[in-house]
Amino acid sequence: MRKLICDRCGLTLMDRGDVFMVFEGKVAWEEAVRARGSQPRGIFPCMNFIRCGGEIKLADNGWLVRYRRWLWKSNGQ
Ligand SMILES: [Zn+2]
Repeated sequence: MRKLICDRCGLTLMDRGDVFMVFEGKVAWEEAVRARGSQPRGIFPCMNFIRCGGEIKLADNGWLVRYRRWLWKSNGQ
C-alpha cells in the first residue's frame, strides 16, 4: 500500500478509495497551479491546503525517484 504525505503539515493518507477521489481532481488542480505561474510540488493539494499550503507527495521512494527522473527528462526537452 502506498502512503501519501503532505510536505508541510505531515498529513498522511493511505492509498485507498478516498485517495482515488482526490486523484480525479488532480488535473484541474495542476492546471490551476500552472495558471498562477508555478509548478506543482506534489501530486495534489493537502486536505488542509487553505491552512497549511502543503501538497501531498508519495512516500514510496522508488516511485518518487522514477517520477523525478521522468520530470527531469521532460523538462530537458
Ligand atoms: Zn498539509
